[in-house]
Amino acid sequence: MTNIDHSKIPDLEHRNFRNDDFWQKIPAWAGVTRGEFSDHLWQLKNSIRKIDQVKKVLGDKISKEFFEDLQKGQQITPMNIRITPYVFALINWDDPENCPLRKQFLPIGSQFLEDHPMHMADSLSEDVDSPVPMLTHRYPDKVLFLPLTICPVYCSYCTRSRVIGGSTESVEKESYGANQKHWDNVFAYLAQHPKVEDVVISGGDAFMLNPKQIQYIGENLLKIPHIRRIRYATKGIAIFPQKILTDDKWMEALVKVHKLAIGFGKQMVIHTHFSSPLEITKWSQMAMDRLFSEGILVRNQAVLQEGVNNHVDEMVLLTRKLGYMNIQPYYVYMHDMVPGCEHFRTTLGEGEELEKAVRGTTAGFNTPTFVCDLPGGGGKRHVASYEYYDQENGISVWRAPYVKPDKVFTYFDPIHKLAPDAQDRWKDAATRKAMIDEAIKKV
Ligand SMILES: *Cc1c(COP(=O)(O)O)cnc(C)c1O
Repeated sequence: MTNIDHSKIPDLEHRNFRNDDFWQKIPAWAGVTRGEFSDHLWQLKNSIRKIDQVKKVLGDKISKEFFEDLQKGQQITPMNIRITPYVFALINWDDPENCPLRKQFLPIGSQFLEDHPMHMADSLSEDVDSPVPMLTHRYPDKVLFLPLTICPVYCSYCTRSRVIGGSTESVEKESYGANQKHWDNVFAYLAQHPKVEDVVISGGDAFMLNPKQIQYIGENLLKIPHIRRIRYATKGIAIFPQKILTDDKWMEALVKVHKLAIGFGKQMVIHTHFSSPLEITKWSQMAMDRLFSEGILVRNQAVLQEGVNNHVDEMVLLTRKLGYMNIQPYYVYMHDMVPGCEHFRTTLGEGEELEKAVRGTTAGFNTPTFVCDLPGGGGKRHVASYEYYDQENGISVWRAPYVKPDKVFTYFDPIHKLAPDAQDRWKDAATRKAMIDEAIKKV
């Protein structure tokens, strides 16, 4: 990967936005018109929520073997299925096994690998750093607010698979929908903490908040004098752009909050989540045009994933396409060390190489920062800012001087990507511990 031939990356490819009637290739939707497909209610009503529906809409287009593999996936994955017809129809059903979109939303049993021995359900220690329910307060001036745990689409690689969506065959969850009463405790906490200036409203997904709730949260946060910036986090623009285009009540609520923020001299922005250039179509661009014309700034946070976006061409194309439609690429995350995701993870070395390759391909302000959100709650750190990296055994050691000055943190590369002798060393608990201790001693 070190010798990248940038001339091989097509220069203007990022300006092409897919605009065909791609959903009509799905047998059940062959007769669905563009008008129907644009309707956010049609998208919701026809969302895929059970594995049997996959077979129903695809008919003979899916092989028996592949469908059985999908069924097996359901027994292992920590996440429910929920997919909008928009994303479902963008999947390449002629080669579903290798399609980056299928990989992200419809796991197959045969893809799963054993979890890393150091994996954690709450890898980022969000529950530990939580002073009141639904709030994580780790950094001095910014907080993470999780007002609900449902999403319009469930990602197999979800970092909050311990709580997001409903229970699955492998995980029991106490998920929650929107509940205004609990939010008031969060607002009261924030009002009493004058250092906090920045609130991330995540979840779950802000697309699942109704217009009243969007406004209720926005107004209550913005009226706290010391809160200067709020961000609604939603994957919606990437997986359900029809809502931006046709759910006028929802858009009106968002625009109202935005105007209120501006009136107060504060910021309201959206953080969205595109991970692959294949997720970007003319629909995404149209949704962005509407948000942009309202003056609403959108930033993107992607997750680095094996077989989805861990090639330079894909990452450059994603970056340029985002910039072209007025989305600012903000972060690319190393995959968190959560269960059921070993097949998605890449090595830290790959993250560093991609960062090097992408930097310089477009404007600096449209170049994402590649970060590792440290297991154990160290926060986000630039991928090249570790204190020590034993690349052979896949162990990196980090510090987070401002967040937790007395602690060291460790991140681990996926074992299946290491050389055979290193893989053997990981098999033995005592050797494993000695290797980790050795690495920590180096810093
Ligand atoms: C990511 C995150 C934030 C926001 O961090 P930024 O780097 O400003 O995007 C705030 N709190 C928590 C707990 C987070 O994980």
